[in-house]
Amino acid sequence: MTRTRMSRRTLLKGASAFSALMAASGEILAQQAPSRTAAAPGAPLPQRGEFVIRAATVLTMDPSIGDFATGDVHVREGGIVAVAPRIDVANVQTIDGSGMICMPGIVDTHWHLWTSLFRPFVRADVDELGYFPVSNRLGVLMTSEDSYRSVMLGLAEALSAGVTTVHNWAHNVRSPDHADAELSAMRDAGIRGRFAYGPAQGMPDDQPMDMAGIARVKRDWMPGDGLLTLGICSRNIGAMSIGGATRGVLTIDMAKKDWGGARALGLPITVHTSGPSPIKVLEEAGLLGPDVQLVHPLLTTPEERAILKTRGVSYSTAPVGEARRPSSAGVIQLGELLEAGIKTSLSTDHTTNYNCDPFVGMRILFALHQHRIGNKVPLTVKRLVQLATLDGAIDLGIADKTGSLTPGKRADIILIRTSDINMSPAGDPYEAIVSLAQPNNVETVIVDGRILRQSGKFTALDYGKIVDEARRAAAALRSKAKWPT
Ligand SMILES: [Zn+2]
Repeated sequence: MTRTRMSRRTLLKGASAFSALMAASGEILAQQAPSRTAAAPGAPLPQRGEFVIRAATVLTMDPSIGDFATGDVHVREGGIVAVAPRIDVANVQTIDGSGMICMPGIVDTHWHLWTSLFRPFVRADVDELGYFPVSNRLGVLMTSEDSYRSVMLGLAEALSAGVTTVHNWAHNVRSPDHADAELSAMRDAGIRGRFAYGPAQGMPDDQPMDMAGIARVKRDWMPGDGLLTLGICSRNIGAMSIGGATRGVLTIDMAKKDWGGARALGLPITVHTSGPSPIKVLEEAGLLGPDVQLVHPLLTTPEERAILKTRGVSYSTAPVGEARRPSSAGVIQLGELLEAGIKTSLSTDHTTNYNCDPFVGMRILFALHQHRIGNKVPLTVKRLVQLATLDGAIDLGIADKTGSLTPGKRADIILIRTSDINMSPAGDPYEAIVSLAQPNNVETVIVDGRILRQSGKFTALDYGKIVDEARRAAAALRSKAKWPT
């Protein structure tokens, strides 16, 4: 994650060199890491082997394949080879899936991972200690090591909850080292994801984004071994966000500069729509397209939804946080989005005063939908699982790689125990996932064919070390900020 380490990395070209570096990452850190560098989070990641998951309840989320009450999934060299009721292959590792639901990993499409350290500071019930005032104040003090530790903490929680892909909303890129730190954490965790390069906290609104820095990240990090992709996160357009301009506010002319720069590099764009809707302004400026993801669908009009459908724009909803907003901020418009045929996905947003629990996210969405709309726009529990998996992959433009258990795709797979007290006795698997499941039911997590968690434990990451380093980084920030004065 240091510049030294990055320059070593850039000398190694090609996927094999990248894999070799990943395997040796702990060693390189030990050799080169100056004291300001976050230490490696654990042992090198496991190899991508060959194995068969046997006798699970398999939910493929691929309509052409369907589901199997009892089925097998064959994985080799990171890819899904076959999914069938019974797969005959000898001399490979077997994972017993009996009593488990086997499904694609969760795809989380918007998460401010750099704020994960702020749990000791943020309060849900004290406005002055809300997410925005805290992240505004502490964000400017963060070192690149703080960024690494914060992102790693969030990713460890993501993997624990069955999330295998994240869209990292990195809007506190204070230096090239900060960008490398966040990307290093994503690489070291072994998760799939998009790094959305943003501005830094406190950056003047009339200062353009660092396109040279973004181009450097594209050159140095992409495509790597294919797990990470790149985009930008834009500051808000034309309106203050709730609780202050924590993500900045752009004029439409500034948005044209930032978005134009991203598009010149072939990068997708994500932007929050908290506050007065910018959709018509963006449409009039000709800025909307299928490479744009909006966040927080709370206040759209039928006319705006028609625009989004026409332009192929997606919307990410973060139901846990959105449900806490005042009614003046709008309601979660899931029914309206689905009815309009807009690409929609689910996200965690942040974990400062709630945790990563995609099951609760689906549950809240279902409850609010039933409360507001009910059967006027039918919503099944299966559709909610689709939103959390395949639809997320579609939103991030990686549905050719993940989001369903389809032969040829990469093996991003989770196993959920149904024998636990909150799940048992098992009934309909979709009902169980949406209405009953908790992160601690996630038994096994596989990303790109690597078994990152098994029996509910990390296979390589040192969880204790990750938490301890995060705790010490938060304590140092507290001291640096002279908190709470
Ligand atoms: Zn957000």
